[in-house]
Amino acid sequence: MTAPSADSASLPSPADVGFEITARHGERARAGTLTTPHGEIATPAFIPVGTKATVKAVLPESMSDLGAQALLANAYHLYLQPGHDLVDEAGGLGRFMNWPGPTYTDSGGFQVMSLGAGFQKVLSSEFSGGAKARTANGEDDAVREGKERLAHVDDDGVTFRSFINGDVHRFTPEISMQIQHGLGADIMFAFDELTTLMNSRGYQEQALERTRLWAIRCLAEHARLTAERTHRPYQQLWGVIQGAQYEDLRRQAARDLGAMDVEGWSFDGFGIGGALEKENLGTIVGWVTEELPENKARHLLGISEVDDLFVAIAAGADTFDCVSPSRVARNSAVYTRTGRVNLTGAKYRRQFAPIDEDCDCYTCTHYTAAYVHHLFRAKEMLSSTLCTIHNERFVVRLVDRIRASLLSGDFDALREETTGAYYGSPR
Ligand SMILES: [Zn+2]
Repeated sequence: MTAPSADSASLPSPADVGFEITARHGERARAGTLTTPHGEIATPAFIPVGTKATVKAVLPESMSDLGAQALLANAYHLYLQPGHDLVDEAGGLGRFMNWPGPTYTDSGGFQVMSLGAGFQKVLSSEFSGGAKARTANGEDDAVREGKERLAHVDDDGVTFRSFINGDVHRFTPEISMQIQHGLGADIMFAFDELTTLMNSRGYQEQALERTRLWAIRCLAEHARLTAERTHRPYQQLWGVIQGAQYEDLRRQAARDLGAMDVEGWSFDGFGIGGALEKENLGTIVGWVTEELPENKARHLLGISEVDDLFVAIAAGADTFDCVSPSRVARNSAVYTRTGRVNLTGAKYRRQFAPIDEDCDCYTCTHYTAAYVHHLFRAKEMLSSTLCTIHNERFVVRLVDRIRASLLSGDFDALREETTGAYYGSPR
């Protein structure tokens, strides 16, 4: 592939991984196979999130049974607790959590900047004035009203306070690579600066240039660590495309990172990150995928809504992650064919039928909605387990159906049928 050939066949090398397109539809949609040392991922694929090396309330075995092909954990959380050195000592993320399949870690940038500065809500198009942009030290700053600013970005990295105990920490591109190599996931992401839709155009340009320079440093550190850590299989590094809502910035970032070469090392795939307005999702992903190399996989960070999945896949995205299916499940919200519903509602008290008649998940094939309603009312822990299994299966299965439709040429028919049927659903 694109990196220097290994001196010996036993050394970890980008040649051990790859992405092959198996079907195409329309201008940009594709199905493919992503190869990692821990197995293949058939794409498009939904990648469930296990923030702290666990999908909350669910066994890894259950995630495998419901069809999850890979899991994504967060570098920031695992760095703070239990520490990447400990995960490394345990044999890496997959072995530590008893998940034999492929794993992803994010770079930590999103959490460091969004949790640190308390501006997570601002990323969403639902932003309704609960935060305000303000100028501090001559730079744009977006801090949620009433929140202390806990992250500071400079050209070398980010200084932030731990959400656990307030201790001060610092991430740089090199530190993010060291953490992610220690965690040992198959797919890692380059450290990038997260901006919001509220930042000025001038600030977006500065941040994008910083992200480009950080990407170069990530590749260099990744090359160094790969050569040093020969006891582990090759870990892929994917570059992250930022640029907010600006076409020229998104395209430039995709061209820069797509062609980036640091002493023979290039990115194995790409993430599309940052502020994405729901109404422009397809357009923005389309700008980026048009510029990126065709033969490398693209991951869209943080989406799981039904209509968004179709839009993103049509625009050329291959994998997706989102914490929503498990997060809302713990609050008794479940996805169904007719939309998202709350199981604590009185109408479920005597629904002696599955949550969704159409669902083939373990929960729906073994338990009634009335039972799960009771568990929530009685505040029993099993409620979270059963609902998480249902919601994760719902999204995984939908993306499986989309993949099948790309292979059979029925994508448009499925999109029409499903978008109508699921109208107003999962949020
Ligand atoms: Zn179900």
